[in-house]
Amino acid sequence: MSLDLDQRRRAMLGEMGIRVWGPKVPKPEFPAGGLDDAPPSPPRGGEAAVPAASVAVARPATGSVSSSVAAALRGDVAAMDWDTLQQSVASCQACGLCNSRKNTVFGVGDTQARWLVVGEAPGENEDLQGEPFVGQAGQLLDNMLKAVGLNRGATGAQGVFIANVLKCRPPANRNPQPDEVVKCAPYLQRQVELLQPKIILALGRFAAQALLQATVPEVATIPLGKLRGQVHSYQGVPVVVSYHPAYLLRTPQDKAKSWADLCLAQEVARRP
Ligand code: URA
Repeated sequence: MSLDLDQRRRAMLGEMGIRVWGPKVPKPEFPAGGLDDAPPSPPRGGEAAVPAASVAVARPATGSVSSSVAAALRGDVAAMDWDTLQQSVASCQACGLCNSRKNTVFGVGDTQARWLVVGEAPGENEDLQGEPFVGQAGQLLDNMLKAVGLNRGATGAQGVFIANVLKCRPPANRNPQPDEVVKCAPYLQRQVELLQPKIILALGRFAAQALLQATVPEVATIPLGKLRGQVHSYQGVPVVVSYHPAYLLRTPQDKAKSWADLCLAQEVARRP
Protein backbone atom coordinates (compact mmCIF):
# COMPACT_ATOMS: atom_id res chain seq x y z
CA MET A 1 0.00 0.00 0.00
CA SER A 2 1.39 3.37 -1.05
CA LEU A 3 2.20 5.84 1.72
CA ASP A 4 1.25 8.89 -0.31
CA LEU A 5 -2.47 8.25 -0.22
CA ASP A 6 -4.39 11.48 -0.49
CA GLN A 7 -6.80 12.48 2.21
CA ARG A 8 -9.86 11.53 0.23
CA ARG A 9 -8.62 8.03 -0.42
CA ARG A 10 -7.73 7.67 3.24
CA ALA A 11 -11.29 8.67 4.05
CA MET A 12 -12.62 6.05 1.64
CA LEU A 13 -10.44 3.38 3.14
CA GLY A 14 -11.45 4.55 6.60
CA GLU A 15 -15.08 4.16 5.63
CA MET A 16 -14.36 0.67 4.45
CA GLY A 17 -12.84 -0.24 7.77
CA ILE A 18 -9.27 -0.22 6.46
CA ARG A 19 -6.75 1.45 8.76
CA VAL A 20 -3.90 3.25 7.06
CA TRP A 21 -0.79 4.08 9.08
CA GLY A 22 -0.26 7.84 9.12
CA PRO A 23 -2.32 10.97 9.78
CA LYS A 24 -5.72 10.48 11.32
CA VAL A 25 -8.35 9.21 8.90
CA PRO A 26 -11.11 11.83 8.58
CA LYS A 27 -14.59 10.89 9.74
CA PRO A 28 -16.24 8.66 7.14
CA GLU A 29 -18.56 10.39 4.69
CA PHE A 30 -21.69 8.59 5.78
CA PRO A 31 -24.91 9.43 4.01
CA ALA A 32 -26.89 12.42 5.30
CA GLY A 33 -29.22 11.39 8.07
CA GLY A 34 -26.87 8.74 9.40
CA LEU A 35 -26.84 5.04 8.80
CA ASP A 36 -29.36 4.22 11.47
CA ASP A 37 -32.23 6.12 9.88
CA ALA A 38 -34.86 3.58 8.99
CA PRO A 39 -35.49 3.71 5.24
CA PRO A 40 -39.14 3.76 4.14
CA SER A 41 -38.83 0.29 2.70
CA PRO A 42 -36.17 -2.37 3.19
CA PRO A 43 -33.03 -1.67 1.17
CA ARG A 44 -31.90 -4.05 -1.52
CA GLY A 45 -29.11 -6.49 -0.81
CA GLY A 46 -30.24 -8.56 2.15
CA GLU A 47 -27.98 -11.55 1.85
CA ALA A 48 -27.75 -11.86 5.58
CA ALA A 49 -31.50 -11.95 6.02
CA VAL A 50 -32.37 -15.11 4.08
CA PRO A 51 -30.43 -18.37 3.99
CA ALA A 52 -28.76 -18.83 0.64
CA ALA A 53 -30.46 -22.16 0.06
CA SER A 54 -33.89 -20.56 0.05
CA VAL A 55 -33.25 -18.03 -2.65
CA ALA A 56 -32.62 -20.13 -5.72
CA VAL A 57 -33.03 -17.80 -8.66
CA ALA A 58 -33.28 -18.10 -12.38
CA ARG A 59 -32.97 -21.83 -12.79
CA PRO A 60 -35.65 -22.31 -15.47
CA ALA A 61 -37.25 -25.74 -15.59
CA THR A 62 -36.71 -27.23 -19.03
CA GLY A 63 -39.73 -26.58 -21.19
CA SER A 64 -41.35 -24.19 -18.71
CA VAL A 65 -43.22 -21.12 -19.89
CA SER A 66 -40.56 -18.94 -18.30
CA SER A 67 -37.74 -20.61 -20.13
CA SER A 68 -39.48 -20.35 -23.49
CA VAL A 69 -40.28 -16.67 -22.89
CA ALA A 70 -36.67 -16.12 -21.89
CA ALA A 71 -35.44 -17.96 -24.96
CA ALA A 72 -37.67 -15.82 -27.18
CA LEU A 73 -36.47 -12.67 -25.45
CA ARG A 74 -32.88 -13.81 -25.72
CA GLY A 75 -33.35 -14.34 -29.44
CA ASP A 76 -34.61 -10.79 -29.87
CA VAL A 77 -32.03 -9.22 -27.62
CA ALA A 78 -28.98 -11.16 -28.77
CA ALA A 79 -28.33 -9.04 -31.83
CA MET A 80 -29.19 -5.64 -30.41
CA ASP A 81 -26.78 -2.73 -30.36
CA TRP A 82 -26.47 -0.62 -27.21
CA ASP A 83 -29.11 2.00 -28.11
CA THR A 84 -31.64 -0.59 -29.23
CA LEU A 85 -31.02 -2.59 -26.08
CA GLN A 86 -31.62 0.49 -23.97
CA GLN A 87 -34.88 1.25 -25.80
CA SER A 88 -35.95 -2.36 -25.47
CA VAL A 89 -35.44 -2.26 -21.70
CA ALA A 90 -37.32 1.05 -21.48
CA SER A 91 -40.38 -0.48 -23.11
CA CYS A 92 -40.07 -4.00 -21.67
CA GLN A 93 -43.29 -5.69 -20.54
CA ALA A 94 -41.93 -9.20 -20.12
CA CYS A 95 -42.92 -9.47 -16.47
CA GLY A 96 -45.32 -7.85 -14.03
CA LEU A 97 -42.77 -5.37 -12.72
CA CYS A 98 -43.59 -3.12 -15.68
CA ASN A 99 -46.92 -2.35 -14.01
CA SER A 100 -45.46 -0.89 -10.83
CA ARG A 101 -42.21 0.68 -12.05
CA LYS A 102 -41.83 4.41 -12.49
CA ASN A 103 -38.66 4.07 -14.57
CA THR A 104 -36.58 1.26 -15.91
CA VAL A 105 -32.98 1.30 -14.68
CA PHE A 106 -30.71 0.28 -17.52
CA GLY A 107 -27.40 1.17 -15.94
CA VAL A 108 -24.97 4.04 -15.78
CA GLY A 109 -21.33 4.71 -16.51
CA ASP A 110 -18.67 4.34 -19.12
CA THR A 111 -19.51 1.83 -21.85
CA GLN A 112 -15.77 1.40 -22.48
CA ALA A 113 -15.03 0.66 -18.83
CA ARG A 114 -12.92 -2.27 -17.68
CA TRP A 115 -15.17 -2.75 -14.66
CA LEU A 116 -18.83 -3.81 -14.64
CA VAL A 117 -20.52 -3.72 -11.26
CA VAL A 118 -23.73 -5.77 -11.01
CA GLY A 119 -26.24 -5.30 -8.20
CA GLU A 120 -29.61 -6.84 -7.53
CA ALA A 121 -32.48 -4.59 -8.58
CA PRO A 122 -33.52 -0.95 -8.35
CA GLY A 123 -34.89 0.28 -5.05
CA GLU A 124 -37.23 3.20 -4.48
CA ASN A 125 -34.74 5.97 -5.27
CA GLU A 126 -33.37 4.17 -8.29
CA ASP A 127 -36.91 3.63 -9.62
CA LEU A 128 -37.63 7.35 -9.22
CA GLN A 129 -34.38 8.51 -10.81
CA GLY A 130 -33.83 5.77 -13.38
CA GLU A 131 -30.24 5.28 -12.19
CA PRO A 132 -28.75 2.38 -10.21
CA PHE A 133 -27.39 2.74 -6.68
CA VAL A 134 -28.41 6.30 -5.87
CA GLY A 135 -29.59 5.70 -2.29
CA GLN A 136 -27.55 5.09 0.86
CA ALA A 137 -26.14 1.85 -0.53
CA GLY A 138 -25.19 3.78 -3.65
CA GLN A 139 -23.23 6.33 -1.66
CA LEU A 140 -21.29 3.55 -0.01
CA LEU A 141 -20.73 1.88 -3.38
CA ASP A 142 -19.42 5.15 -4.82
CA ASN A 143 -16.99 5.47 -1.92
CA MET A 144 -15.87 1.87 -2.27
CA LEU A 145 -15.24 2.42 -5.97
CA LYS A 146 -13.36 5.65 -5.30
CA ALA A 147 -11.09 3.70 -2.97
CA VAL A 148 -9.90 1.73 -6.00
CA GLY A 149 -9.75 4.81 -8.22
CA LEU A 150 -13.11 4.38 -9.98
CA ASN A 151 -15.91 6.86 -10.48
CA ARG A 152 -19.31 6.31 -12.07
CA GLY A 153 -19.03 9.64 -13.91
CA ALA A 154 -15.55 9.03 -15.27
CA THR A 155 -14.17 7.53 -18.45
CA GLY A 156 -10.84 5.92 -19.19
CA ALA A 157 -8.90 4.25 -16.40
CA GLN A 158 -11.39 5.52 -13.79
CA GLY A 159 -14.45 4.36 -15.70
CA VAL A 160 -16.97 1.84 -14.42
CA PHE A 161 -20.37 0.68 -15.61
CA ILE A 162 -23.01 -0.10 -12.99
CA ALA A 163 -26.07 -2.25 -13.71
CA ASN A 164 -28.46 -4.61 -11.96
CA VAL A 165 -29.79 -8.11 -12.53
CA LEU A 166 -33.34 -6.68 -12.68
CA LYS A 167 -34.00 -3.50 -14.60
CA CYS A 168 -37.25 -2.75 -12.76
CA ARG A 169 -37.98 -2.30 -9.06
CA PRO A 170 -39.74 -5.16 -7.28
CA PRO A 171 -42.63 -3.63 -5.30
CA ALA A 172 -41.71 -2.70 -1.72
CA ASN A 173 -38.18 -3.91 -2.48
CA ARG A 174 -39.20 -7.55 -2.16
CA ASN A 175 -36.73 -10.12 -3.43
CA PRO A 176 -36.58 -10.71 -7.18
CA GLN A 177 -38.74 -13.66 -8.23
CA PRO A 178 -37.20 -16.47 -10.29
CA ASP A 179 -39.33 -15.74 -13.36
CA GLU A 180 -38.40 -12.05 -13.21
CA VAL A 181 -34.71 -12.94 -13.12
CA VAL A 182 -35.13 -15.36 -16.03
CA LYS A 183 -36.96 -12.83 -18.16
CA CYS A 184 -34.52 -10.00 -17.42
CA ALA A 185 -31.37 -12.12 -17.81
CA PRO A 186 -31.00 -11.59 -21.59
CA TYR A 187 -30.58 -7.85 -21.03
CA LEU A 188 -27.66 -8.26 -18.64
CA GLN A 189 -26.21 -10.95 -20.89
CA ARG A 190 -26.29 -8.58 -23.86
CA GLN A 191 -24.87 -5.75 -21.77
CA VAL A 192 -21.90 -7.96 -20.90
CA GLU A 193 -21.43 -8.98 -24.53
CA LEU A 194 -21.40 -5.36 -25.66
CA LEU A 195 -19.38 -3.94 -22.77
CA GLN A 196 -16.78 -6.73 -22.77
CA PRO A 197 -15.52 -5.73 -19.29
CA LYS A 198 -12.24 -7.05 -17.92
CA ILE A 199 -13.91 -7.75 -14.57
CA ILE A 200 -17.45 -8.13 -13.25
CA LEU A 201 -17.95 -7.33 -9.58
CA ALA A 202 -21.10 -9.18 -8.46
CA LEU A 203 -22.62 -7.53 -5.40
CA GLY A 204 -24.80 -9.73 -3.23
CA ARG A 205 -26.31 -13.16 -3.53
CA PHE A 206 -28.81 -12.37 -6.32
CA ALA A 207 -26.11 -10.99 -8.59
CA ALA A 208 -23.83 -13.91 -7.73
CA GLN A 209 -26.53 -16.48 -8.39
CA ALA A 210 -27.70 -14.88 -11.62
CA LEU A 211 -24.16 -14.68 -13.00
CA LEU A 212 -22.71 -17.96 -11.77
CA GLN A 213 -25.51 -20.48 -12.22
CA ALA A 214 -24.02 -21.75 -15.47
CA THR A 215 -20.51 -22.27 -14.06
CA VAL A 216 -21.38 -23.10 -10.43
CA PRO A 217 -24.62 -25.12 -10.70
CA GLU A 218 -24.98 -25.40 -6.92
CA VAL A 219 -24.51 -21.66 -6.44
CA ALA A 220 -27.90 -21.20 -4.76
CA THR A 221 -26.83 -23.44 -1.89
CA ILE A 222 -23.43 -21.80 -1.34
CA PRO A 223 -23.27 -18.95 1.19
CA LEU A 224 -22.04 -15.70 -0.32
CA GLY A 225 -19.02 -15.69 1.97
CA LYS A 226 -17.82 -18.90 0.33
CA LEU A 227 -18.14 -17.49 -3.19
CA ARG A 228 -15.77 -14.66 -2.30
CA GLY A 229 -12.02 -14.81 -2.63
CA GLN A 230 -11.91 -16.57 -5.98
CA VAL A 231 -12.26 -15.59 -9.59
CA HIS A 232 -15.36 -17.06 -11.24
CA SER A 233 -16.49 -16.62 -14.81
CA TYR A 234 -19.55 -15.40 -16.71
CA GLN A 235 -19.49 -15.84 -20.48
CA GLY A 236 -15.72 -15.93 -20.27
CA VAL A 237 -15.48 -12.69 -18.26
CA PRO A 238 -13.84 -12.96 -14.82
CA VAL A 239 -16.27 -12.44 -11.93
CA VAL A 240 -15.45 -11.50 -8.34
CA VAL A 241 -18.24 -11.83 -5.79
CA SER A 242 -18.59 -9.47 -2.86
CA TYR A 243 -21.08 -8.25 -0.30
CA HIS A 244 -23.90 -5.96 -1.32
CA PRO A 245 -23.40 -2.39 -0.03
CA ALA A 246 -26.82 -2.49 1.68
CA TYR A 247 -25.60 -5.50 3.65
CA LEU A 248 -22.37 -3.64 4.48
CA LEU A 249 -24.38 -0.72 5.84
CA ARG A 250 -25.91 -3.14 8.34
CA THR A 251 -22.75 -5.18 8.86
CA PRO A 252 -19.82 -2.74 8.75
CA GLN A 253 -17.48 -5.32 10.26
CA ASP A 254 -17.49 -7.05 6.84
CA LYS A 255 -16.22 -3.94 5.01
CA ALA A 256 -12.65 -5.14 5.33
CA LYS A 257 -13.57 -8.32 3.46
CA SER A 258 -15.22 -6.28 0.78
CA TRP A 259 -12.02 -4.24 0.48
CA ALA A 260 -10.13 -7.48 -0.11
CA ASP A 261 -12.66 -8.35 -2.82
CA LEU A 262 -12.13 -4.97 -4.49
CA CYS A 263 -8.37 -5.49 -4.43
CA LEU A 264 -8.79 -8.91 -6.04
CA ALA A 265 -11.06 -7.42 -8.71
CA GLN A 266 -8.56 -4.63 -9.31
CA GLU A 267 -5.77 -7.11 -9.73
CA VAL A 268 -7.82 -9.08 -12.29
CA ALA A 269 -8.89 -5.90 -14.14
CA ARG A 270 -5.22 -4.93 -14.55
CA ARG A 271 -4.20 -8.25 -16.06
CA PRO A 272 -3.05 -7.87 -19.65
N1 URA B 1 -29.43 -2.09 -4.69
C1 URA B 1 -29.18 -2.70 -5.86
O1 URA B 1 -28.86 -3.87 -5.89
N2 URA B 1 -29.24 -1.97 -6.96
C2 URA B 1 -29.56 -0.70 -6.97
O2 URA B 1 -29.60 -0.11 -8.04
C3 URA B 1 -29.82 -0.08 -5.74
C4 URA B 1 -29.76 -0.79 -4.61
